Amino acid sequence: MIVRLAPGTSAEIVQALRNRLESEGVRTILSPEPERPIFAAVDRVPDALADEVNAHPHVDDTVIPRGAWRLADLAFRAGPSVADVGGVKIGAGEVSICAGPCSVDHLMSEAASQVKRAGAHLLRGGAYKPRTSPWAFQGFGKEGLRQLKDAGETVGLPVVSEIMDAAHLPAFRDHAIDCLQVGARNMQNFTLLKAIAESGTPVMLKRGLAATVEEWLYSAEYLLAGGCPGVVLCERGIRTFERATRNTLDLTILPLLRQWTHLPIIVDPSHACGVAALVAPLARASVAVGADGLAVEVHPDPAQARSDADQALLEGELAAIVAEARVMAAVTGRSLPP
Ligand code: PEP
Ligand code: MN
Repeated sequence: MIVRLAPGTSAEIVQALRNRLESEGVRTILSPEPERPIFAAVDRVPDALADEVNAHPHVDDTVIPRGAWRLADLAFRAGPSVADVGGVKIGAGEVSICAGPCSVDHLMSEAASQVKRAGAHLLRGGAYKPRTSPWAFQGFGKEGLRQLKDAGETVGLPVVSEIMDAAHLPAFRDHAIDCLQVGARNMQNFTLLKAIAESGTPVMLKRGLAATVEEWLYSAEYLLAGGCPGVVLCERGIRTFERATRNTLDLTILPLLRQWTHLPIIVDPSHACGVAALVAPLARASVAVGADGLAVEVHPDPAQARSDADQALLEGELAAIVAEARVMAAVTGRSLPP
């Protein structure tokens, strides 16, 4: 149950109500929401106690989330939440573009200059790569994080990189990686989610290859329950019977998730389709349907990319996507940061 009190209710009154629930063995968690006091009762609230809460003079309403998540539910905040990635805002009207190579390679600094010139707001690059084949390029590891961060600092962009193992957290911290990406293959690696939630770094949580929206939200709940300061959901296509494209981009869930969660949602059209020629129209559609941002793969020389070469865009193609995203954001009453 989520308990929403009237704006302006004193902290003492809120605490007294939480204490009442806690005295009955119901754990409570206070929302960081500044506009009004909201807290979640984590455990099931017995009927008589629920009646008592609903009758409380300062309680505006109580909401039962549709799933067993609490902190990810729409009702846990007064409005959409915003993730702050190194000063770049994602959500609640700010549409931010993340771009960069699939894997960090010897052209990382050139890629960073291109991403910056094209107008993107965040720089991505994989240093630890989840590859289907053990013989495929696995990433530069720690050295890749260093090159990514150096490139980001040189052009003035916060950086995003995928983490696959909690043992790598110190390396991500040492290199001040601004946002941890949890890839599709690790969406339900709960041990990893718990470990990174405590790191104090925002997380981009990609949807699993065959994960339902509910399973995805439960994974977001793990991050929020562990104290993660900002969770961004990333739709990247799901596995369906259709093999003509790498995956099937599920844009249907964007308006649906708006009814279920306050979390920002971005779309990765690159992994959804797998080929460069299809990325721009999918990016356009994603912003039109309400995405809070895009994650796209670019490379200065796609033929030399160590992974996902077929879907890598050139600088000019990224610039066109950013320009179109600006238009689609405006059409939907939002804007891109400058
Ligand atoms: C990636 O972002 O390069 C990646 C491996 O993505 P996903 O986890 O969505 O497959
Ligand atoms: Mn990739």
